[in-house]
Amino acid sequence: MADCLFCRIVAGDVPAQRVAETARTIAFRDINPQAPTHVLVVPKDHHPDLAALAVAGDGLLDEVAALAHEVAVTEGVSETGYRVVFNTGPQAGQTVFHTHAHLLGGRPLAWPPG
Ligand code: AMP
Ligand code: ZN
Repeated sequence: MADCLFCRIVAGDVPAQRVAETARTIAFRDINPQAPTHVLVVPKDHHPDLAALAVAGDGLLDEVAALAHEVAVTEGVSETGYRVVFNTGPQAGQTVFHTHAHLLGGRPLAWPPG
């Protein structure tokens, strides 16, 4: 989608600091990090939110989760712990409607989140 920021990042039209990639997913650093490790993992195809990604099926959501864990390992936070968050809808603060997993780690993470 031409007017979608993350589709433009996937296409390489908007620069991003990529940290990992598979055939169907990419991971890049959040531009406004909320933790020492803050990486976004997205499907390359456009799905507006988690529900849409889930019904897409074909193992794509699994692939996003697997890449989040792989990045947690390479970032050195898999042992200390990390959080994977899909903000979904306005009250959860979703601002980019190309679904993305936030991978957060590298500091103690409060629970419940704000
Ligand atoms: P959300 O609010 O859950 O939709 O998350 C959107 C995230 O995208 C925010 O954490 C932003 O900081 C991040 N973001 C916005 N623009 C960019 C960009 N150009 N490159 C990387 N991350 C971005
Ligand atoms: Zn998109």
